[in-house]
Amino acid sequence: MNIAGNLATIQSRIADACRRSGRNPDEVTLVAVTKTVTRAEVDELYRLGVRDFGENRVFDGAERLKHLADTDVRCHMIGHLQRNKAREALQAGFSCIHSVESPKLLAVLDKEAAGLGLVPDVMLEINVSGEESKYGISPDQAGKLAEQALALANIRLVGVMTMAPLEAEPEQTRPVFQGLRRCKEDLETQFSIALPHLSMGMTNDFEIAVEEGATLVRIGTALFR
Ligand SMILES: *Cc1c(COP(=O)(O)O)cnc(C)c1O
Repeated sequence: MNIAGNLATIQSRIADACRRSGRNPDEVTLVAVTKTVTRAEVDELYRLGVRDFGENRVFDGAERLKHLADTDVRCHMIGHLQRNKAREALQAGFSCIHSVESPKLLAVLDKEAAGLGLVPDVMLEINVSGEESKYGISPDQAGKLAEQALALANIRLVGVMTMAPLEAEPEQTRPVFQGLRRCKEDLETQFSIALPHLSMGMTNDFEIAVEEGATLVRIGTALFR
């Protein structure tokens, strides 16, 4: 495993995708998805300058990242979050939750955040592709959930997230990313707000996602192979 080399390759591929689409690479943050690795690999990424880490399980993720709690690291919860784990996630330092997909979870996050004196960033997970196996709400339900989120004082709605289907040909994911961007733009128009984040793109398809406006790309496999 050559983490430094992998990271450099990913960063230059992000920069190339930005160049192709007229974007500034500073607009794109790599979220290193560390769910399959050890603390030693996390630490190597930290030494290499990575500050955004993504996990999909509260307990395991918290164990892996807790030694960085007093640093400038940002912990992202990218996996499905159960309501009864919301408090634990916030306490463990997950300050950005990408995977909010129900009114009940939103309400619980708001209540627990208030109790802890926190204001986490949240994103709505949108199932753009409509695959049955995927979490997330349909794009036409996003307005209703956003309206609720915007009315809550202890969370900050910062954007939308999606997972594209795994395609043999990454180009085929483009309509999914375009759909998420449209969803974000529709919310911005409907509520006269600016949503800073589009969380989209993984190992298989991150360059397409960046070309379509991703601000947070969530990458695991390509870093650790
Ligand atoms: C595991 C995971 C990723 C990273 O996927 P790779 O293909 O390994 O880059 C991104 N997003 C979510 C929600 C994940 O669970």
